[in-house]
Amino acid sequence: MLLSSPDVGPLEESYLIRALRSGWVAPAGPDLEAFEREVADRVGVGHAVALTSGSAALHLALVTLGVRPGDAVVVPTLTFVATANAVAYTGAEPVFVDCEAGSGNLDPELLDRTLRDLRRAGRRVAAVLPVDLFGACADYPRILPLCAAAGVPVLEDAAEALGATRDGRAAGSFGRAAVLSFNGNKIATTSGGGMLVSDDGDLVAHCRYLATQAREPVAHYEHRAVGYTYRLSNLLAALGRAQLRRLESMMACRRAHHERYSKLFAAAAGVRLLADGDPGANRWLTSIVVDPTVAGWQAADLAGHLAARGIETRPVFRPMHLQPVFAGARATLSGVAERLATHGLTLPSGSNMTDAQFARVTSAVEDFLTRG
Ligand SMILES: *Cc1c(COP(=O)(O)O)cnc(C)c1O
Repeated sequence: MLLSSPDVGPLEESYLIRALRSGWVAPAGPDLEAFEREVADRVGVGHAVALTSGSAALHLALVTLGVRPGDAVVVPTLTFVATANAVAYTGAEPVFVDCEAGSGNLDPELLDRTLRDLRRAGRRVAAVLPVDLFGACADYPRILPLCAAAGVPVLEDAAEALGATRDGRAAGSFGRAAVLSFNGNKIATTSGGGMLVSDDGDLVAHCRYLATQAREPVAHYEHRAVGYTYRLSNLLAALGRAQLRRLESMMACRRAHHERYSKLFAAAAGVRLLADGDPGANRWLTSIVVDPTVAGWQAADLAGHLAARGIETRPVFRPMHLQPVFAGARATLSGVAERLATHGLTLPSGSNMTDAQFARVTSAVEDFLTRG
């Protein structure tokens, strides 16, 4: 059983076939424009541009925000590597900051310290890039004022958080701009794809221009900037539109899994769920965190037990400051991310997991918890 596999069916098939038969196979097309408008409406922002991946969206957003070689960009250390890679694409330096224990999201206090340290060191901080880890929004009520006071734009990495909310506001609406991903394992997929969303129409228009080889609006192929081939295709946008129509029900499935895991582990001493009690989380993935001194077992023990029964789990992301590719990067650390990486375990969370499959996971976990 897989951790989180694409949940597609007849609706996706019908949307794809309709797009194919419409003749809009070249990248642009009506589904692409409709998908952008529908996602922007869902997130509650004015503008969106659909791109080939969340990584491409992060890259273009950083370029458009004016991030230059030698700048510092603050990134939580506990994230998927794409967040930090996008900073590296621009030639800027990712500066890693540790996370809160409860959610695994960027720690606002350490962010504040990092912004002060960088200012004292005379560094230009070009952006702060909080991540909504596993579909739970970061602490924007504290992060946004800190960044505003420092005069640094916030780019929200909401790649995992489509559908999530915090205090009634949707993930993707918090920063100057935000990035979504529609990769195959995300809560809604276009098989591969991403989107940049923002209330800033100029910013989105500039990203759209850069995403199509920065071609000037004249017939003779004129280019005044280095562009990219980053536009999502109309066919994949059609797939995305079908997924968006099913987003609420897919999210309800993932939330139900989270609820069941919460009950399953309630009586297990030394085990908690990451971001437990966050009512707005989309529950893309459910992760447990084990305190082995209380539980008497390690997260890796449970992972091994489940793997032997054909059930896939994953460790929580290995922090960026421990990655060989970012060795030597500046980091403000508390040890929390390393602890979550060592003692966290992500459980099967897919919206296409059947009740019978979930029951198999449940009984394997119960088996493990009650073994002698
Ligand atoms: C998936 C993901 C991305 C990148 O999205 P792609 O579409 O795979 O390029 C970026 N950030 C985070 C936190 C992600 O989980």
